[in-house]
Amino acid sequence: MSFLKPLAHTSRRWAGSSPSGLLTRSLASTASTVPTKNCTRITPPYAKLVSNLEKVKRVLDHRPLTLSEKILYSHLTEPEEVKPVRGQTYLKLSPDRVAMQDASAQMAILQFMLAGMPTTAVPTSIHCDHLIVGHKGADQDLVNSIENNKEIFNFLQSAAEKYGMSFWKPGSGIIHQIVLENYAAPGLLMLGTDSHTPNAGGLGSIAIGVGGADAVDAMANIPWELKAPEVIGIKLTGKLNGWTSPKDVILHIAGKLTVRGGTGHIIEYFGPGIETLSCTGMGTICNMGAEVGATTSLFPFVPSMASYLHATGRGPVAEAARQHAQFLQADAGAVYDKVIEVNLSTLEPHINGPFTPDLATPLSKFADVVRQNGWKDEVKVGLIGSCTNSSYEDMDRVTSLAKQAVEKGIKSKAGFFITPGSEQIRATIERDGQTGVLEQVGGVVLANACGPCIGQWTRDDLNEKEENAILTSFNRNFKNRNDGNATTMNFLTSPELVTAMSLSGKLTFNPMTDPLVDASGNEFMLQPPYGDNLPLNGFIPGNLSYTPPDVSEPNGAIEINVDPKSSRLQVLEPFGPGPEGEFEDLQVMLKVKGKCTTDHISAAGPWLKYKGHLENIAHNTLNGALNADNEKVNVVQNVFTGKEGAIHEVGRDYQKLGKPWIVVTDHNYGEGSAREHAALQMRYLGCPLILARSFARIHQTNLKKQGVLPLTFADPADWDRMHGGDVIESTVGVADLVAGRPGKNDTPEGGEITLKVRRPNGERYEIKALHTMSKDQVEWFKKGSALNAARG
Ligand code: SF4
Repeated sequence: MSFLKPLAHTSRRWAGSSPSGLLTRSLASTASTVPTKNCTRITPPYAKLVSNLEKVKRVLDHRPLTLSEKILYSHLTEPEEVKPVRGQTYLKLSPDRVAMQDASAQMAILQFMLAGMPTTAVPTSIHCDHLIVGHKGADQDLVNSIENNKEIFNFLQSAAEKYGMSFWKPGSGIIHQIVLENYAAPGLLMLGTDSHTPNAGGLGSIAIGVGGADAVDAMANIPWELKAPEVIGIKLTGKLNGWTSPKDVILHIAGKLTVRGGTGHIIEYFGPGIETLSCTGMGTICNMGAEVGATTSLFPFVPSMASYLHATGRGPVAEAARQHAQFLQADAGAVYDKVIEVNLSTLEPHINGPFTPDLATPLSKFADVVRQNGWKDEVKVGLIGSCTNSSYEDMDRVTSLAKQAVEKGIKSKAGFFITPGSEQIRATIERDGQTGVLEQVGGVVLANACGPCIGQWTRDDLNEKEENAILTSFNRNFKNRNDGNATTMNFLTSPELVTAMSLSGKLTFNPMTDPLVDASGNEFMLQPPYGDNLPLNGFIPGNLSYTPPDVSEPNGAIEINVDPKSSRLQVLEPFGPGPEGEFEDLQVMLKVKGKCTTDHISAAGPWLKYKGHLENIAHNTLNGALNADNEKVNVVQNVFTGKEGAIHEVGRDYQKLGKPWIVVTDHNYGEGSAREHAALQMRYLGCPLILARSFARIHQTNLKKQGVLPLTFADPADWDRMHGGDVIESTVGVADLVAGRPGKNDTPEGGEITLKVRRPNGERYEIKALHTMSKDQVEWFKKGSALNAARG
């Protein structure tokens, strides 16, 4: 394979297709091509990684490793201290970079502020994309969204300036497209506070979607923990052709693996078919790996990645990667936990949905499925773009279809919206004429943001609750996802099929077999799409005011803007230190029965607007929890007043009385997302200890990070003995734990804590409980939180 700088591509195909007034948006500050970036902070430290990997390989007796293992293990904080076993060992890792979107960045930054650090330990970027609506079109929508969210955007910007984070303001683009264009690099390990962070795997990065607390670990130089994932190898052979595109690879795989099939795994692609794909096409494939639950997805370093790096001003990164090309491939003979083969030459276009991304139907069968289900044969709206599918290649290929329609004098029968993934894409396709052609068929260009992909879509074309079908090139299609309407059926497909089927307006339309009708009433067949991977004349950055400097220096003099009267943002106070000795007089407020996920502990939905305000969001604490003593949800008795109240209310009352309280919970407490609010809120309301039959691992770690001691029953049957209203008069073993003294029954995994309990009737009993606190975690507990410990 050759890693030479790419040669020029084909001609500027859409010249002469003049764009509309949108052109004026970017002229004033538009540069001609993307300048070479300062790559010092975006080039992975290859020499160090290779050296680390050598150490790990010695521990592993030089067995061949998959690429996923090579990248992960080379980022171990102590590469000689563990012998990683896939699916078993917990790895302590040092990520290279963090990216956060505007919704999830709020609490992450509020927490990071507690670390008292002048800057982040690793380069970090913030992207304003989720809070921007799609409605009338880019200009108007952007102005309205900025007005409605200016408090949040101002906060994020001031924090970015203070701590030296790169701030991508509203309108600059969608987090994953911006990361691909600016920060992703082969061999990089990055964390992103968004589930489609794996998009960067298209450029050879291990990029993992995490909760804010995990991102804060990396930002505050706290080792980040991950159970060594198993690895699914996907062997690609052949070459895509005709109507099939990279999106079809992952739509097909989603059908095979289902929404849970990738859980606990990294999906690693290999085989000769890889060499035929563009870098951005591989990004699309990795992006939607999130839909099968995979930890992340990635491709090895191939020439199309080098081409993309050069085209986006990162030639030095391409050169450094080329020099370490061996490191950036799986070892010969590496063994995968499971292998799936996909022949690109015979792969059919797919349409997935509605309501779940793994309901995959090949295009040739889709019309039958529509008829069998009795769905109305109408495409109401087609939407292309988003972080999944808004590359230059995507836009060029859909333009080749729209151009045919223009030449035949027809427009899209369905509503048609285009969401560019970034200002760079928007400006480049405007210059090269794609925008003009798409507008000529009726396309409306929305802001460079998430908009309709995340429910920020205001529709004017629909009566409420009317069943309708939309086609999108996005990645998720759960009910209500796009327009908040549960009867909107969202089908996921390639941008090319979205465009062709929108032109026809029919859900049963198959462009490979069915004709369209031109303005004169004559039938014609759409020719298959074609397009350039990269623009012949290079990318242009567009409005330069959207691009932050390559290196953002911290400025400690900046005040972070948080209005004390705000209902959406609240500066956090550091939690106080943990106990110096045993706990005494812990009130058992509640015994929870059955499932208690992070959604039960800290619900989402309407509460999302309070993500940056701990006091306000704490009103939802445990509001989905079933009280085992009264069989009521979110109802508990205040033992001091005898009155019943919501759990957060009683928690706040106990806190006012200076009474620390605990909850006793059932199995797998805290399963679900990595949402740190579920741990933060408990601590905030005065809960220093949770006693469970068992914990979900990530939530257990999150509790430890917030200074809460998670204990499990040594005998799970003891759950039956405890009840709300009991009081833990004292613990035995916590004093040893915090003093670093070995306990009587310590094991390599932890130790034993005895709880001396008194019932309301005065009867006394003892419970044996277990902790799993490591030395580092004991420090967090003593100091009150991991961030307090990081602050020293
Ligand atoms: Fe998430 Fe959609 Fe935004 Fe991508 S475009 S980051 S999937 S909301």
